[in-house]
Amino acid sequence: MLIVMKFGGTSVGSADRIAQAARLVTDQLSKGHRVAVVTSAISGVTNMLIDTARAASKVQWDPAIRRKLFDIHQAAAVTLVPDEAGRKTVLAEIERRLDRFEKLCFGLSMVHELTPRLLDAISGIGEMLAAPLVAAAIRARACRSEAIDATEILVTTDQFGGAEPLMDETRARTMARLGPMVTHGDAPVVTGFIGATIDGVQTTLGRGGSDYSASILGVALDADEVWIWTDVDGVMTANPSEVAAARTLSEISYSEASELAYYGAKVLHYKTILPAFRKRIPVRILNSFNPSHPGTRVSVEGDPSVPGVKAVTSIRGVSLIGISGTGMQGIPGIVAKAFDVVAEQQSNVLMISQASSENNICFVISASEAPGVLKALKAALEFELARGHIEEIASQPVAVVAAIGDRMRGTPGIAATVFGALGAERINVIAISQGSSERNISLVVEEGDAAAAVRALHQAFRLDQTGVVPA
Ligand code: ASP
Ligand code: MG
Repeated sequence: MLIVMKFGGTSVGSADRIAQAARLVTDQLSKGHRVAVVTSAISGVTNMLIDTARAASKVQWDPAIRRKLFDIHQAAAVTLVPDEAGRKTVLAEIERRLDRFEKLCFGLSMVHELTPRLLDAISGIGEMLAAPLVAAAIRARACRSEAIDATEILVTTDQFGGAEPLMDETRARTMARLGPMVTHGDAPVVTGFIGATIDGVQTTLGRGGSDYSASILGVALDADEVWIWTDVDGVMTANPSEVAAARTLSEISYSEASELAYYGAKVLHYKTILPAFRKRIPVRILNSFNPSHPGTRVSVEGDPSVPGVKAVTSIRGVSLIGISGTGMQGIPGIVAKAFDVVAEQQSNVLMISQASSENNICFVISASEAPGVLKALKAALEFELARGHIEEIASQPVAVVAAIGDRMRGTPGIAATVFGALGAERINVIAISQGSSERNISLVVEEGDAAAAVRALHQAFRLDQTGVVPA
């Protein structure tokens, strides 16, 4: 079996963690499997790089950061690479990358401008610092390994800060560079999160994008499985800090995984599933701190034996924008105008609802974007406001709670159970949305009610056990 194994920031967070990651890789190699590794930056490093880049563009460039980054990686190297020559090579590689980091920061402090392109060049250095350490740790376990910059193989568009893979190019380069190594039983360690344009300019896939890298490389290598090693026991029925009785889901479908990733379950980057889904490559989410736990498997079928709702999630830090007025009825174009404005503001809409009376449309966006969108809407709909077609355009901070499950589709009684449970807890529902895929019922509630709403739904669908079809 060919497995792409991705290790997240906490799974490579210290020398001990990197040693454990190396053990997990070599365990599979010794079972005769072939493995390609994708690594995140050491936890906290990406944030440090981004903060430093921002500060440098405002002139407060603190050269002590270079030392701090060196110390973090050197401390790991000292433990992980026992032989002196090997350690020297790894540290020289780390120094080379830090030279580049320092030069970029220096440049920023001269020009006082941080473009998305420059931010990608800097924020992706964390993975380039981590990969040589992970490769050295695998070599220390007597297996062949080499750090590879994804800029060599993962070809992307030039949407800096959120680039998309160009799969044909990526596949050709990945097969050429990694294919022979993997076939020989070596474990190449590829930097997650980053790629490069066809012209070789470094890009990133967006924050948390190493999961996405793993799935892209899984497809490019025709892998049998993609394993995402993280710090929790897989995808759970709810956030365990909100619901004590939350359970790990042993099997979910690609569509459930993408709904869950999108709706706030931080376990998986929301884009990860798509490439794997297209090629039907199963994805496993596993805990490197508890590797004997079977985690969650994401596949085509999911677990059809679980009826109805499978998980409940919530998104905080969002605002509900409402446009209302009795004069909106039957006037075409208001919705189009409103969403044009939202798009112009580069704001992403999480949820939309409009009752058929057409007296109100509302949608949810990130709270940080709400003031800008509100202002732009008022300007664009000035005429309708002046005419009284629209009476009010308002925004309020809210939370979205979503009940998710493939088998909600076609199962009567789900919505009744959802509203019954919230009613019993006296939780007011501000807006509702269910797409016709029927895999997701999203509810807008007051932020202060979100945790109670999640708990009420978790309880109502007995997600602490295997879930029940509502009576
Ligand atoms: N290191 C990157 C981040 O923190 C990518 C990742 O960890 O997935 O966003
Ligand atoms: Mg991550």
